[in-house]
Amino acid sequence: MSVVVVSFGAGIERGTEEALTAARMLAAAGGQPLVWAVAGIDGAAASGVAARHGVARLDVIAHPRLADCGTDVLVEALAQYCAQRQPGVILFNQTAASRLVAPRLAGRIGAAVVTNAFALAFADGGLEVTATAFGGDTHVIYRLVTATRIACLTTTALIAEPVAAAGPVACETVAVDLDAVAERFRVTSAPRAEGPRLEDAEIIVSGGRGFGSASNYDLVRQLAGALGGLWGGSRAIVDDGWIDSSRQVGLTGKITRPRLYIAAGISGASQHMAGCAAARTIVAINKDRDAAIFRYARYGIVGDCLEVMPELIKAAQG
Ligand SMILES: Cc1cc2nc3c(=O)[nH]c(=O)nc-3n(C[C@H](O)[C@H](O)[C@H](O)COP(=O)(O)OP(=O)(O)OC[C@H]3O[C@@H](n4cnc5c(N)ncnc54)[C@H](O)[C@@H]3O)c2cc1C
Repeated sequence: MSVVVVSFGAGIERGTEEALTAARMLAAAGGQPLVWAVAGIDGAAASGVAARHGVARLDVIAHPRLADCGTDVLVEALAQYCAQRQPGVILFNQTAASRLVAPRLAGRIGAAVVTNAFALAFADGGLEVTATAFGGDTHVIYRLVTATRIACLTTTALIAEPVAAAGPVACETVAVDLDAVAERFRVTSAPRAEGPRLEDAEIIVSGGRGFGSASNYDLVRQLAGALGGLWGGSRAIVDDGWIDSSRQVGLTGKITRPRLYIAAGISGASQHMAGCAAARTIVAINKDRDAAIFRYARYGIVGDCLEVMPELIKAAQG
């Protein structure tokens, strides 16, 4: 039995090291080896990360089609990998792509699967997975008892903790046969990523319905510009058409982890916080002193964002 973190795609996604940390703790608690299986990712690039995170074995799933493939090929590759290695637990860093792949892999190999997971423990011969449900408002504990158990980890609230001393990592190539797999979906046009991504931003200024109108929201753009950051917002103002959905922070938007997150006129609903709770410092501006956002904020300003924001812009412009 082993605990296996599975990563795939063009490179090592943000959140992978957090998933490896959670997996290492689970593996240690269960007395099992930690394995990292990568598909389409360069094994040499992964081995340094593997060493830092106490990975006992790095499995490089190898086939030329994995360099640029769709879900059908990937699921088949992972199913063949599971048939060869029989992992007890498979963990994914939850991304839009892994939310597609994990349930399909589970269906293929007869495994139980949970998404939106944030805590894991072995208990009573099964795997206990704690996950958010109902849009993030509820925590549910599932006990998975199938031979292989799969969970997608929401890594924004987890902290990556490399091991004190990096050890040697055994690296093995796992061959799979994908020649006959037909992709049933063809991507005819993918969304174009223009400019810097919110997910990578170090500084984000976000606005919510508290601004009252799309034109007032311009203050958010101005402060973000003055601080050299990006601007975002809550789903409420996306729904109202003030900003494009690519700027939405939250459970159904972008998952961010900036150094500084300024939330102005945002109530702090759990679905919004799912996209920014991992920020190192949250500054909240809200006229309601009891707003939920203040529970997450390191610094809070109780006041009208239409009055506070111009002052902050002035200060940021020096
Ligand atoms: C399944 C599901 C998924 C969701 N996904 C997301 C998501 O990804 N992202 C997201 O953001 N939401 C998401 N939501 C919606 C979420 O529940 C909230 O409705 C939303 O975040 C509220 O946006 P808001 O804080 O801008 O607006 P409101 O809840 O209306 O809050 C406005 C805040 O502004 C304050 N305010 C008002 N006037 C001023 C002023 N002049 N100055 C200062 N403060 C002022 C108010 O006190 C209030 O706290 C989701 C909901 C569901 C059910």
